[in-house]
Amino acid sequence: MEPVNTGVTDADRDGSGTPDTASGETAAPDKPDAPTLGQLLLAVEELWPESLAENWDEVGLVAGRPASPVTRVMFAVDPTLEVIEEAVEWGAELLITHHPLLLKGVTSVAATSAKGKAIHRLIESGTALLTVHTNGDSAVGGVSDVLADALGLEDVAPLTAATNGLPEEGIGRVGELSEVTSLGEFAARVFGILPSVAGGVRVSGDKDGLVRRVAVCGGAGDSLFNEVRASNADVYVTADLRHHPASEAREEAVNGRPYLIDVSHFASEWLWLPAAASALGNVLADQGHDVEIQVSTTNSDPWDFILTPG
Ligand SMILES: [Zn+2]
Repeated sequence: MEPVNTGVTDADRDGSGTPDTASGETAAPDKPDAPTLGQLLLAVEELWPESLAENWDEVGLVAGRPASPVTRVMFAVDPTLEVIEEAVEWGAELLITHHPLLLKGVTSVAATSAKGKAIHRLIESGTALLTVHTNGDSAVGGVSDVLADALGLEDVAPLTAATNGLPEEGIGRVGELSEVTSLGEFAARVFGILPSVAGGVRVSGDKDGLVRRVAVCGGAGDSLFNEVRASNADVYVTADLRHHPASEAREEAVNGRPYLIDVSHFASEWLWLPAAASALGNVLADQGHDVEIQVSTTNSDPWDFILTPG
């Protein structure tokens, strides 16, 4: 995306090019318009409040000093070593990823494991890491909202309402297509909006069956079948559909519905990154901060090729 350059900051009311402070000192002499990491976290909290995260989740700052200035932010789905390298090479002082690097307890971050190497590379390069995970899923403009929007859904509502949020916040979304279409055509639309990955898109259901009401959940959504059925969706788009939940959902189907569309976990969440980058850029610009924001170009989908009978 285009760098966000807002020019004069709120803190530079005299137009001198440096922030005005009571003592006349500058907070960050070499980067006068850069927010601190701590200030940037406030903007993140405004968009994706940590209170929206699921109980089991670990969101927030993983590495970094709140007092450090941030001039470049990169968004990515996964904090893999390749993604971290990309952020470091671009000069990002902050990497925001959807998935947590450390979700389970650790007793060592020695650089003898991949996660230890990641922590070392981040700290040694001065790159902060922030997780926006299920809070980014649940929020308005979150992962499933962006997916619903990209598919052209209207009258969109959450599949499950957020415990600590607004009625329009929560996990998954359900909405209506503007007109009835066939499952085959709708699957092609799903395929068309997602970044290209090896696994493609898998569909369960009658290709000529008609669909209008669509449920979506970016990332792994096979725990939401009850909510999907309750929503009367004709088709459910999500990722990581395992054999048993998918098979049982098909057995429970009424008139073949809901049909299932299984997409790449990475691809379903990647769509959110440009939208998130744009939203954060707008909030920071409103606050008078000058930050460049980019979306990672690394494909962190773990699959590289696929063999099919066709
Ligand atoms: Zn995910």
